[in-house]
Amino acid sequence: MTQSDAVNDTSVNETKAERHKARQQKVKEGVDAKIAAATKEKGILLVLTGNGKGKSTSGFGAVTRCAGHGQKAAVVQFIKGGWECGERNLLEKVGVEFFVMGTGFTWETQDREKDVAAAESAWEDAEKLLKDESINLVLLDELTYMVTYKYIELERVIEALNNRPKMQHVIITGRACHREIIELADTVSEVQPIKHAFNDGIKAQIGFDY
Ligand code: ATP
Ligand code: MG
Repeated sequence: MTQSDAVNDTSVNETKAERHKARQQKVKEGVDAKIAAATKEKGILLVLTGNGKGKSTSGFGAVTRCAGHGQKAAVVQFIKGGWECGERNLLEKVGVEFFVMGTGFTWETQDREKDVAAAESAWEDAEKLLKDESINLVLLDELTYMVTYKYIELERVIEALNNRPKMQHVIITGRACHREIIELADTVSEVQPIKHAFNDGIKAQIGFDY
């Protein structure tokens, strides 16, 4: 490399750095303007739906975040799998209240009447939480199935969500969330399965899947 090549190299790098700085400055201005415009505060209704893995773990992540700030969170689990819930073991110790529907997967109980009664009782717990000003965040885990199977009337769910305390956040998880709940929500994320280990014959493992 000659001396003039080295000088050229330096000036090319300087131009690149300047262009990068100018671009980042533009991005920063855009982000700052959006942050300045977002001034409202309200309880958020978040729906985590779709067929991919990560809906409940995301909901529990938000519960952990809430509890970590000394706020009050509560969880209603509408479908209790056969497995012990790792999140419950931990979060109950820091004061997060859990309400768990007494039955397992509906294809396991195969008893509609029993499922409806269990869903009704869990929903009554949920309704109490959705009236309680002292609770900052309510996680309604796997609620979508209760509406799909018509174990709980959609209208009751919508009404309770609409009438909840103004600053209370609610998270609803589960596949195939009803359109009307999606319309009511402030934030909706759909988790898409690109791959799932289960399809390669790998079983659900403690500490990772539950
Ligand atoms: P997680 O609790 O791991 O966040 P999830 O709430 O998104 O999962 P659910 O539909 O509630 O998913 O299913 C719960 C269980 O089924 C978990 O053990 C999860 O690993 C598994 N699971 C989730 N998605 C899939 C999938 N696409 N194929 C097979 N198993 C899945
Ligand atoms: Mg789930």
